[in-house]
Amino acid sequence: MMTKSNALRTAAVATMLGLLVIFALALSTARSKARQSGIARTLESKEPVTYFIADGGRSTGFRPGDSELALWAFQAWQRSAGGGLRFQPASESDALIRLYWAEPGGGEYGETQPLLVRGRRGAAVFIRPDVESLGPDIARRAAADDLLRHTIVYLTCLHELGHALGLAHTRDFRDIMYYFGYGGDVTAYFGRYRAQIHTRNDIAMVSGLSDADVARIRALYTPE
Ligand SMILES: [Zn+2]
Repeated sequence: MMTKSNALRTAAVATMLGLLVIFALALSTARSKARQSGIARTLESKEPVTYFIADGGRSTGFRPGDSELALWAFQAWQRSAGGGLRFQPASESDALIRLYWAEPGGGEYGETQPLLVRGRRGAAVFIRPDVESLGPDIARRAAADDLLRHTIVYLTCLHELGHALGLAHTRDFRDIMYYFGYGGDVTAYFGRYRAQIHTRNDIAMVSGLSDADVARIRALYTPE
C-alpha cells in the first residue's frame, strides 16, 4: 500500500501543484494539437498500463476511502475493455497514468493533462474530492447522502480516466464521456448512478459506463 516515501512525495507534489498545473497546461497546449487521444496507440496490446493513485492526505474534502473509489474506476474500465486493457500498479515516477487529488477550483470536477513518461504517452489525472465546491444544489444533496457524494467522486474518476485512456467527450447524456458543457441536468446525471447502488461496495460492481463507452474503449484496446 502507501509507503512513507510515497506519502512524503505526495506531500511534495501537493505543495507544487500550482506549478505542476501551469506546466501541464503548457504541455497540454503544445500537445493537444498534435493528437487528442491518450496513451492507447503507444502501447503494445499485451503490455499493461501502469498506474499510480496518490494519497489525498490533507486535500480539501478528501476521505481515506477515496483512493478505493479511484481504484474501482480503473477496474471498471479494465473489466469493460474485454481483455485488451490491463492495469498494473507502479511507483509514481514509473506510472503512465497518475491520479492526484486536487484542491477545488473553478467549479470543475476534475481534469486530465498529457504526461510524457520516458518517451511514452501518459496522463496526469486531477480529481477534486471537495463536492461542497460544486454548487449549492449538489453540495446540499451530497451533504445529506454519502452515497451521492461517493457517486460524484467515483464518476469523476471514471470520466477523467476515460480521457487518460484516449477517449474524447460525447454529446450523449448516457455516456460517462458526456460533457456537461453541452447542457443537461447534472443532478439527474449523478442521481441516475446513485439510484443503482445501495451500499458503498456496490460501486465496485456497477461500472457506470454506457454501451457506447464500452464500445469505444474496446475499439481502442482490442487485443490482437
Ligand atoms: Zn472531460
